[in-house]
Amino acid sequence: MSESTVSRITSTRIPTQFGDYQLCYYTNNLDDKEHVAFYLGDVAEKSDLLVRVHSECFTGEVLGSLRCDCGEQLNRALKMIAEEGAGVLVYLRQEGRGIGLLDKLLAYNLQDEGHDTVDANLLLGHQPDERNYSLAARILEDLGVKSVRLLTNNPTKINSLEAEGIPVSARVPLEGEVTPFNKSYLVTKAERMDHILRSAVVDRIDTHDPQSAD
Ligand SMILES: [Zn+2]
Repeated sequence: MSESTVSRITSTRIPTQFGDYQLCYYTNNLDDKEHVAFYLGDVAEKSDLLVRVHSECFTGEVLGSLRCDCGEQLNRALKMIAEEGAGVLVYLRQEGRGIGLLDKLLAYNLQDEGHDTVDANLLLGHQPDERNYSLAARILEDLGVKSVRLLTNNPTKINSLEAEGIPVSARVPLEGEVTPFNKSYLVTKAERMDHILRSAVVDRIDTHDPQSAD
């Protein structure tokens, strides 16, 4: 267990196209970032609650970039939680798998030169994935969540939450659409980062890779 702690400062109602969510603002002892929880329905003392632990992606979520599937995963998770009637989306401010916006943009340029997402991060002196989930675990504890069905394709996220004391009773896949723009990103996730992405792996042989020259 890490020694991270969080404090809930306030909670407010946010109506969305999917339903009425509550947004909880947290401070913590590890960084000065604004990590939040976005939840719907009764979540306190609940087991097997539908939960998404989502890391910020400015380019994908705000600008609609097609380089990744983050925006689609975020919207799909909010919709699934609303359809279920209860659940939590923990939104962590760890842009670009934790390397920050500037280095993410530099990594995109390296990817356009032919490096995959893992090698681009390594060339910039980073780990392939620098995200940390201890604050997500503290936030889920603060909300009183007992165990989660986690919306993810990422086994590392499951293992990290369990190591932080949050039981993951099931994995719920969260696959978006594979497009020519995000295909190589998804294939690298599947092949080099152990993500469970059936769609990306199954069709990767048939589709033209936009990052190969022509
Ligand atoms: Zn993204």
